[in-house]
Amino acid sequence: MTHAELVFVPIPAIGHLISMVEMAKLLVDRDPRLSVTVLIMKLPFDADVDSYTNSLATSVAATRIRFVHLPCENIGTEILGSFLTDFIESNKPHVKRAVAELVDSASSTQQLAGFVLDMVCTTMIDLADELGVPSYVFFTSSAAFLGMMLHLQLLQDEHHVNITEFKDSASELDFPSFTNLLPAKVLPSVVLTKESVRPFLEHAKRMRATKGIIVNTFDELEPHAVRSLAGLGAPAVYPVGPILSLNGETKEKDIDGHRGDDIMEWLDKQPPSSVVFLCFGSRGWFGEDQVKQMACALERSGHRFLWSLRRPPLSKGQVEIPSDYADPAEVLPEGFLHRTASVGKVIGWAPQAAVLAHRAIGGFVSHCGWNSTLESLWFGVRVATWPLRAEQQFNAFELVVELGLATEIKMDYRRDFRMESGILTADEIEGGIRKLMEEAGSESWKKVKEVSEKSRKALTEGGSSYLSLGRLIDDILNNMPLI
Ligand code: UDP
Repeated sequence: MTHAELVFVPIPAIGHLISMVEMAKLLVDRDPRLSVTVLIMKLPFDADVDSYTNSLATSVAATRIRFVHLPCENIGTEILGSFLTDFIESNKPHVKRAVAELVDSASSTQQLAGFVLDMVCTTMIDLADELGVPSYVFFTSSAAFLGMMLHLQLLQDEHHVNITEFKDSASELDFPSFTNLLPAKVLPSVVLTKESVRPFLEHAKRMRATKGIIVNTFDELEPHAVRSLAGLGAPAVYPVGPILSLNGETKEKDIDGHRGDDIMEWLDKQPPSSVVFLCFGSRGWFGEDQVKQMACALERSGHRFLWSLRRPPLSKGQVEIPSDYADPAEVLPEGFLHRTASVGKVIGWAPQAAVLAHRAIGGFVSHCGWNSTLESLWFGVRVATWPLRAEQQFNAFELVVELGLATEIKMDYRRDFRMESGILTADEIEGGIRKLMEEAGSESWKKVKEVSEKSRKALTEGGSSYLSLGRLIDDILNNMPLI
């Protein structure tokens, strides 16, 4: 039996890394002919990613998955538009070397079957081309967002539209991957900024030339968007999701040495569906003024809460990696922790999947990162949207307007190093929380429960994502170069 070896190249960001590792597990579990080597690029300063990657060797039992840690590049930590591109370029020689070693050490029955590249590592297609093996892209966001990238790239390169002119525009755009008109204000900052739009859309152009795009979504969630992709010139598309890390291998950071046990114990004591959970992803943080408005809103809403509150990056102008507060009281209104002690809990990094799975959770104030979105749907927890960066505004619009699966605190709030909205007031936040928590039984609440069931069905034998994964494996094996 020939063994097909795939090389996975994720970027070291929690939202990308975890789902690509889970994808690798899914592939090797499904077919004994497949094995995967995951190349781990290292950022010198991300403790959250480090604790996840350090756990991999012991937590991933599959013998046909190997992790190769690439050397750390000293690329500085300053936020520049080109930071990610520079980081990926600096890793190319390491990837090349690691793959050469892999090929050299392969047994006579092992064969390199191709690269599976992170959606922002498309320049590494060149390395696969040099070796004469196919490339696939792993797309960590929605089918609608993939459609947006492909569409904007055509507008830019074939119709000579200057995409950055949509910045501050009140216009609504007709996108093939949406049935509704899309407000320009929910486009991601990366396409609204002169320095970043071209390199970003170059990824869309390069993806077209791959053998296929594996998308972390499922047909039943985004039927229109998935169907639109062929018309936008995508190669084969494989919706294989939702790919989630639910079995305790998600990094659960030591919190007071308890690995989150105190959080789960606290949730156990709360009534069903009574707690609003606030969590803003691996890069989410707020300044002190905003934190005070949030605290005030929570207190006034009267709802029970579990709040993942994280500290801003220690120095300004650095890549945005938040950390946990030693004592969150230093940024909260005086007496807040004391007054809310019987109804609320403020934490740092949250064991998010376990929290969303808990019956006490009644709603989720989320930044709408795509993994968080899929997790909330999987557990049937309704979301109130509060996006911050990346494609989160776009996801919020898809959830609230296109799919009717969420309620809005804000869809176009934005706080990244390129653009910044003002502060959301306690009134706005309180209104959003009340709407989220007091609409149990509403149409959108019922819809979330239905989608939750569909997400589970998609992965079971005969389900849409199960079949799509089978198609992907057949194609990987058929596309292998002949030796
Ligand atoms: N996450 C977590 N605890 C936190 C913050 C994030 O477990 O306090 C996990 C979350 O469950 C999700 C991932 O980290 O799986 C974040 O990915 P997402 O795409 O939602 O957002 P990003 O971090 O990329 O902005």
